[in-house]
Amino acid sequence: MSAGPLQQSERARIALLPENVRNQIAAGEVVERPASVVKELVENALDAGSTRIEVELEEGGGRLVRVRDDGCGMPFEDLRLAFAPHATSKLRTSEDLEHIASLGFRGEALASIGSVARARITSRERGERTGWRIDDEGGQIGEPLEAGAAEGTLIEVRELFFNVPARRRFLKQPATELARCLDVVQRLALAHPGVAFVLTHEGKRVFDVESGMDLRARVRRAFGAELAAALVPLESEQAGMRLSGWVAPPRFARADSSRQMFFLNGRYLRDKLLVRALKEGYRGFLFDTRSPVAFLELALDPARVDVNVHPQKSEVRFREERAVFGFVAHAVREAVKQCDMATPGAQLVERALAREGFEPTRSLPFAPEPRPHAPERQPLQVFERPGSFVPPAPGALLQVARTYIVRTLPEGFEVIDQHALHERITYEGLLADLRAGKFERQRLLLPELVELSRSELLLVTGAREELARAGFELEPFGETTIALQAYPARLQRLRAGELVRAIAAALEEGKKLGREELLESVLQRAACRASVMAGDELELSEMRELIERGRALESDQTCVHGRPTRVRFTLADLERAFLRTT
Ligand code: ADP
Ligand code: MG
Repeated sequence: MSAGPLQQSERARIALLPENVRNQIAAGEVVERPASVVKELVENALDAGSTRIEVELEEGGGRLVRVRDDGCGMPFEDLRLAFAPHATSKLRTSEDLEHIASLGFRGEALASIGSVARARITSRERGERTGWRIDDEGGQIGEPLEAGAAEGTLIEVRELFFNVPARRRFLKQPATELARCLDVVQRLALAHPGVAFVLTHEGKRVFDVESGMDLRARVRRAFGAELAAALVPLESEQAGMRLSGWVAPPRFARADSSRQMFFLNGRYLRDKLLVRALKEGYRGFLFDTRSPVAFLELALDPARVDVNVHPQKSEVRFREERAVFGFVAHAVREAVKQCDMATPGAQLVERALAREGFEPTRSLPFAPEPRPHAPERQPLQVFERPGSFVPPAPGALLQVARTYIVRTLPEGFEVIDQHALHERITYEGLLADLRAGKFERQRLLLPELVELSRSELLLVTGAREELARAGFELEPFGETTIALQAYPARLQRLRAGELVRAIAAALEEGKKLGREELLESVLQRAACRASVMAGDELELSEMRELIERGRALESDQTCVHGRPTRVRFTLADLERAFLRTT
């Protein structure tokens, strides 16, 4: 027999820590705040096959977290071990770590929670006549006692961190802790559409979903009807990976990522790779600093992902990172293109009315027109797109302030930003040429000479060959001058100086980008500089052509910087604005 942890020789300075201290240290990784307790307990209830999970909180969860489930329950022998560290029913051998399908597997959560709170489990195994309960008071684990109980499990965690004052002080206001608990419950509820959830705080119902509600219905319950109605479905499969769910039009993007949810085989994640892939899917449709809103479930063989890289299990490591990234980014992009990106006039009307002191009403969503003909798709996609929107042929047109085009629609009217739309059209054309590898060049009889700083000149000359691929021929002409000799014929309004300086700026800012991305960014700048501007007078025929060319594109709904190209007013908006609705 080896000596116990604290009975080592006098000379030794190293000692094994007593078990309760070990558990408290481990608890630091797993249990940060009430929301972490909620997450671990609800995940256990889900692993137990529950169909209904109730979460009750007091004081933001700091005073009490109570989770009740109707899952398989635990027999006496399991209850005895439930609070013991590294005790789990979900894993037996190290091989099992290679393909984990349950949410838990570390056998750490209950031990950690019990070591920093007053915890009690009451449980009755399915089909058994009686239940049992066991207590853990800050690491003092009792014996199971017989107790009356419903089938399933009830876990109560009181006075979190009562024995770790430093951590207790670290907790925020109850309202803040409650918000975090709500976030956890909503994420888990969205990840498990088959299961009913109820969350109450101080006896008041904060959130609930019934078991029959699908993901979209749950999004509506959690985040409102306007978002739910605007979501576009995504469904894509490739090489054993399957991505499904919903993406929101870019205008729903937020400063935070609270409405960005990824589920991997039923587990919600905050994985950096998936966040980047989502962002990539929205590139060009969104301002860079905003976080798109999407609810996506990725399913793949558990053996192809390591979930054992993070104590809270919220990050994972994919074995084929590049393949996952490419697949997700592509599928998201295809779905985003189906979004109706126009700013709904309803928002503007509501804001205007609110300024005038009128009551806000529920928003009136635009009823999308049916698509005249489905565009060709890559075989990868299996969309059904009830929500996709195709603008109808141009009706009556009017230019306002040499900047906006007003256009009638069967359902109202829309206001188009002429520059934003033309910029998108020019860019898509340039991009298609780049991909096809052939540019129609416009050669200048007299090269345009452009003054640059020395560093700009170096950048541009260094990228000369790449730029030639994109249709630009540039030759250095002295110390700080460059000669533009040819440019893509699609660029209608050449302002050589602006164009070349915009290219230099794109090269400067794009140092970290890959070759293709850099060229795309150059083309974006060029499209911006060489398109119709605000202030340009347009003939009726020019406006008509602009709109027709936009219609021919897959998406003409945002400019290349992600600003919308149009604001749309429906009849309902007008009725609301004139206070004709009841
Ligand atoms: P893990 O979930 O990683 O296995 P936990 O400490 O969270 O570790 O739970 C330990 C064990 O207790 C689980 O493996 C499971 O067998 C049992 N258990 C916990 N919560 C429940 C529950 N709500 N219903 C049934 N069994 C549970
Ligand atoms: Mg667990």
